[in-house]
Amino acid sequence: MEVTSLPGQGQTGFDIRASTGDGTGPTAIVPDSATCTACLDEMLDPSSRFYLYPFVTCTDCGPRFTIIRRMPYDRHNTSMAEFPRCADCARDFADPTNRRFRAEASACPACGPQLSHSIAHIQSALLAGKIVALKGIGGFHLFCDACNESAVQTLRQRKDRPKKPFAVMLANAACAEHFATATSAERALLRHIARPIVMIRTGAGLAPSVAPGLRHVGIMLPSAPVHHLLFHRPGQHMPSRPRALVATSANRQGEPLVIEDEEASQTLAGIADLVVIHDRPILARADDSVMAIIAGGPAFIRRSRGFVPEPIDLGQDGPSVLAVGGHLKATICVTRGREAFVSQHVGDLATPATIRFYEETAARLLATLGVTPEMVACDLHPDYRSTRFAEASGFPVLRAQHHAAHLAAVAAEHQLKGAVLGAALDGQGYGADGGAWGGELLLLDGARWQRHGHLLPLPLPGGDRAAQEPWRMGVAMLAVLDRGGEASDRFASMPLAASLATLLAAQDATAAKASTTSLGRLFDAAAALLGVCTLQSYEGQAAMELEALVGVPRSLPGGYRIVNHILDFRPLMSALLTPGLSAREGAELFHGTLIDGLVAWISVAAAARGQTRAVLGGGCLLNAVLTEGLVAGLRACGINPYLPRAVPANDGGLSFGQAAMARAYLQAPDCARGP
Ligand SMILES: [Zn+2]
Ligand SMILES: [Zn+2]
Repeated sequence: MEVTSLPGQGQTGFDIRASTGDGTGPTAIVPDSATCTACLDEMLDPSSRFYLYPFVTCTDCGPRFTIIRRMPYDRHNTSMAEFPRCADCARDFADPTNRRFRAEASACPACGPQLSHSIAHIQSALLAGKIVALKGIGGFHLFCDACNESAVQTLRQRKDRPKKPFAVMLANAACAEHFATATSAERALLRHIARPIVMIRTGAGLAPSVAPGLRHVGIMLPSAPVHHLLFHRPGQHMPSRPRALVATSANRQGEPLVIEDEEASQTLAGIADLVVIHDRPILARADDSVMAIIAGGPAFIRRSRGFVPEPIDLGQDGPSVLAVGGHLKATICVTRGREAFVSQHVGDLATPATIRFYEETAARLLATLGVTPEMVACDLHPDYRSTRFAEASGFPVLRAQHHAAHLAAVAAEHQLKGAVLGAALDGQGYGADGGAWGGELLLLDGARWQRHGHLLPLPLPGGDRAAQEPWRMGVAMLAVLDRGGEASDRFASMPLAASLATLLAAQDATAAKASTTSLGRLFDAAAALLGVCTLQSYEGQAAMELEALVGVPRSLPGGYRIVNHILDFRPLMSALLTPGLSAREGAELFHGTLIDGLVAWISVAAAARGQTRAVLGGGCLLNAVLTEGLVAGLRACGINPYLPRAVPANDGGLSFGQAAMARAYLQAPDCARGP
């Protein structure tokens, strides 16, 4: 803090002057926030001019990030520009005692945006089992009655989404008591001003197809006035209004969230029975944020609406950098001063539309922050679109190894200084030797890192296909255990199982190029061998279904070996093949032994390096059973574990870690990258 005395200016009064300049500078756009209780009260008050108005907002609440065209935040720079204030709204805007004093986005039924259909019409459609696309704050949602199994199944068919869980919107936290069994921490998170989707243990009443095979369901409370109205019907009672609604992003599989009205009527025509729009454009896409309570605190699964573009404090000033993320769940990160701005969730860079959205996101973030980066950080993978985007940017490029970046994100968030040991427990990322890494023990110091240990490499039959088809990892594990002969019996529905086993028996299982050290693939192998999941219809399905079976994790004595910092779970995997072992028993044995093995592996390395802290990163940490076991186990060994809290543990947090590495590199350039 600096304190400076200034001579008095002799002014009287207080005034707010028109903005000057181009809008770049040390200001920041604020995230969208949920409707406040004062606005909600007005919306439900028949005597208010905001009665049943789906766009009610004030200085305390409403859209910001998604309606801003450019800074500064003045109405003419937002998508409210085309709605001149009526006399009543102009009076509120100018009155310092009014809650809408200087509320740039405020409007009323006389002057503001309008919905294309009445709420009663939308409710009738939902209660009749129809699918409704509704334009919200950051994009379109698809809604249907979450208690109506045939409606949910129809949505699955039309969206071509066989198993991936849907989120459910409930009227209020009290309803969450009925449909789910929320802890007090989960209830608090549900009511967070950003209104994220929160993973909560399911109760009774939801259609089975909402989250098949899983124990947790994503629940969210209404974030926009229009969502509140969906559950409200003046003067009438149930069942004439919906109680629980599936609320899922309205997009085609793999495409970004739909925000344009035109696009909605074309893209969603085959999915929704009714498309409801309004006349205020959405300027920035923002998917719903997804969170869970893991190891006693909130953790992001997807960081987007309500949190973006709030900066993350890096603890100290540094050069501005741009980081471009990975391939899946891509995000962009830009740093300015001591702050890191991580973009909203963009998605998998697999379609032209998503790549266009990704490039726009990078340009928009740099422009609104007024930043020219000194360096661009990207993944080590040579074929990622993000890598090529970084290379084409014209700025100096730092190529950050995937798992080092995962761990750097956690170290940066907790502002850890000096060398730190970290375990990256992940799906797959490009290793420094070109292999598919994902179960790594690294020693990280700024932009430098060393590989200290890893999981025993397993064959990766079919490369990327192995990630979608867990049975392939099952066969790979059988081959490693010298039990390839069982492949055709255990995977009788997979005609290629026997020939794959024969092929693997003839190969050198430890060759880096055709093998993987990924913990995610070990989960796949376990799920496949236990008969829980042999083919995945969404990323992470096998691991999530396996976790859902666990009551109390149990450890198998002698279930793992550590030789030269290589962690080998073959004894455990062999035990999973025991005849008569149920899937549930197997899942508990797998989780318990995994936790014990990982704790021993990390603590032995920590002792060897004189470390008393460990950072944990990577997508596997979204498994609450695993993470909670690791935290307890490491603490019992005198090690202080650090978890990802500010950004997702999965690849959604990668850009933040890459940015931290690039800043560290620029601040100490002679310390070249490892290993
Ligand atoms: Zn309000
Ligand atoms: Zn008005």
